[in-house]
Amino acid sequence: MSTVVRTMCPMNCHPTLCGMLVEIEDGRVRSVKGDPDNPDSQGFLCVRGHASKEIIGNPARLLHPMVRDRRGIGDWRRASWDEVLDRIAERMREAGRQAVATWTGHGVAANNYGVRLTGNLVRRFANLYGCQTWSAQMICWGLGAFGLGFTGVLETSTKEDMGAHANLIVLWGANLASQPNTARHLAAARRRGARVITVDVRETEAAAQSDEVFVLRPGTDAALALAMMHVIVREGLHDRAFVERHTLGFDELAAHARAHSPAWAEAITGISAARIEALARRYATTRPAMIVIGGSSMYKGANGAQAGRAIACLPALTGNLGVPGGGFGPRHGSSSHGQALASIAANDRRPPGDYVIDQMPRITEALVEGRIRVMLLWGTNMVSSFADANRVAEGLRLCDLVAVHDLFMNDTARECADVLLPATSWLEELGMKGTNTHLYLMPQALEPPGEARSASWVLRELARRLGLDDFFPWASDEEMIDAVLDHPATGHATVARIRAAGGIHPMNVSHVAYPTFAFDTPSGKVEFVSERAKRHGLPALPVYEPLPSSPYPLTFRQGRTLTHFHGFYDHGRALPSLAKADSGPVLWISPVDAVARGVTDGAAIRIHNERGALEARARVTDKVPAGTVWMRDGWRGVNDLTSGAPAVPDEACALFPFTVGQSAYDARVEVSPL
Ligand code: SF4
Repeated sequence: MSTVVRTMCPMNCHPTLCGMLVEIEDGRVRSVKGDPDNPDSQGFLCVRGHASKEIIGNPARLLHPMVRDRRGIGDWRRASWDEVLDRIAERMREAGRQAVATWTGHGVAANNYGVRLTGNLVRRFANLYGCQTWSAQMICWGLGAFGLGFTGVLETSTKEDMGAHANLIVLWGANLASQPNTARHLAAARRRGARVITVDVRETEAAAQSDEVFVLRPGTDAALALAMMHVIVREGLHDRAFVERHTLGFDELAAHARAHSPAWAEAITGISAARIEALARRYATTRPAMIVIGGSSMYKGANGAQAGRAIACLPALTGNLGVPGGGFGPRHGSSSHGQALASIAANDRRPPGDYVIDQMPRITEALVEGRIRVMLLWGTNMVSSFADANRVAEGLRLCDLVAVHDLFMNDTARECADVLLPATSWLEELGMKGTNTHLYLMPQALEPPGEARSASWVLRELARRLGLDDFFPWASDEEMIDAVLDHPATGHATVARIRAAGGIHPMNVSHVAYPTFAFDTPSGKVEFVSERAKRHGLPALPVYEPLPSSPYPLTFRQGRTLTHFHGFYDHGRALPSLAKADSGPVLWISPVDAVARGVTDGAAIRIHNERGALEARARVTDKVPAGTVWMRDGWRGVNDLTSGAPAVPDEACALFPFTVGQSAYDARVEVSPL
């Protein structure tokens, strides 16, 4: 006899996320399919969502705690939970709290993205214990939000608003691979006659859904946005009334934009001045116009924050904020107007200490300088996702103890861990996910296999050993979730109420961002000129900063595909259908660059620079321009190539409630046939 459980896909395509119906029989998953009653996804489930059924019963799952006495040679042995937890607690005590660190990845949110249960529990643990902890927002969407934050336009409008009202949609660095069910609303907008434009460093999958595509050189987005402003101001296409009422610094911005002509931008972006002029006119004269800005990959560059700042000026200049169909559309990590939850992180109880700031290069330094002795990793593959990953691996190998809590082995565990902690999957623990409009219950439907345990359980056991009596003051995970939901935005919902209502709960939010025209700045207005930025050593106006020069000729960029997303499930390699779709690293290279190097389509190649090297296969394609090469992210070795230099000054890292200290990630490379 089978039962059908309503839950959510365990991938994290925030802010859209998809509902899932799982058919279970005799403790096994028979099928997964999209939930037609889920208001966000309406029955959609992509190839990744379908692959999630391969998690359950997967022979590669970690089922028992494991330890090894020497790293890197694979002599793992099975251990009891008591043995591994005692060993971790003992090493933590020996190291001293400030030499202990936690780092979380998307894996901790597979069962709670948008509600941040496990992430906040890890932070609560670190706050009460007084150890180092950092938020992975800095590796994900934080740097992009940094630029938007100075300007004051962090809120996003929903995909439903886009589909119903936008007449022009600019997908700026947004390939939708990280939010595929937005595509339905894009299609709805097009059926109404809306025009879709893609701006990216390559012809993406989203480009195929677009009326026009602008392929620019990597790291030149700010130049394009500045030149668009030049045209808009020069031709008087800006919305004078909106600018007057809701912005600060228009005169300075206008003067600044005058110096950034389309001809100037043509030389930088590789897009002709005539096309830039046409784009600016179309954006300024089509009302309402919405920009869907890239979640993370467009910011993987030293000047990514300036791109965010420059693009953020466009909706304000044209009066496209606070109106249906305008502003910014769904962005990974963003919130809709009114969206909020209570915090259980106990940030106010963090003891004074010598804490490493939320800045990736400083974290790497702390590791390689031996200041971190114990590293607790939760659902993350740090050596694949951190920039300058060779140095990170070197630092992790210096630790006295590295513990990894995950569903599967990953590169970091293979190379650097001493202790493996088997985690529960989305069907094996109680969870809750949140989109920009709804909360969704994820009930426990299966018993954990082997000795797998949730992060909540592991943290409680560690807290008990360390004497953190108040770590988990709730009687159950359900009570803990209720504490997080206890907020006016949810109507003070509880798990019981949501369960009784069928597992779906609408939040008290607006589909349109900034309906009250109160923007996220000290002045409450959109700040074209930011005194805050100036005070922290950054330009007061958005600027184009050329990328660092390099003797290596090709600009390397990485991003997402529809068959891969985030590092969990060993970057998809543990799930057979995804592993088959992506069997190894493939580099997109233009025909011009390939011919110049004697590289043919499908050939084995070596990608290298001053930091490292990676072997891959070439995909010779004119979907990427000469001078640019591109690869799906997540492969071990990709970030051996990328720069670990800071993208923003240390003193600017704590300006916003989210973390922004992303490394530059820039990489110039050479490609040679093998
Ligand atoms: S789009 Fe994302 S959330 Fe939806 S099914 Fe695919 S992987 Fe899951």
